[in-house]
Amino acid sequence: MIFKSAKINAFRTWGLLLTMIGMGLMVLGTAGIVFWGQAGKIFAGIGLVLGLITMVGSMAIYFWAGMLSTSAVQVQCPECGKLTKMLGKTDRCMFCHTILTQDPGIATITADELEAQGKSSPQGRSSTSSQPR
Ligand SMILES: [Zn+2]
Repeated sequence: MIFKSAKINAFRTWGLLLTMIGMGLMVLGTAGIVFWGQAGKIFAGIGLVLGLITMVGSMAIYFWAGMLSTSAVQVQCPECGKLTKMLGKTDRCMFCHTILTQDPGIATITADELEAQGKSSPQGRSSTSSQPR
């Protein structure tokens, strides 16, 4: 699921996942005090520190994704017609997960060919003729 999505969406998924793990570690650490009393305080400390590091890491990923999305190229997906954002030369559409590329060398079908073909190929590789602004 994660690997079959657009890069920006993948970053967001990992950011969310790390936030959840961080919060989970903090909760577990605090629960350590309840279960083991005095001895659990060390466990709680480790859990809180690890949780904090994980959450800071997830914030960094979110920030990075935000920075990347400002440099992403907005293209209209030839498959579903929606506006999506691309990172790098090849990325997947955010909505229908069609592989889009701006490199004519690795494209197996161009936007014009796709249009002529109609919407008959749901899993076809496609190229967009859009150029970076
Ligand atoms: Zn699409």
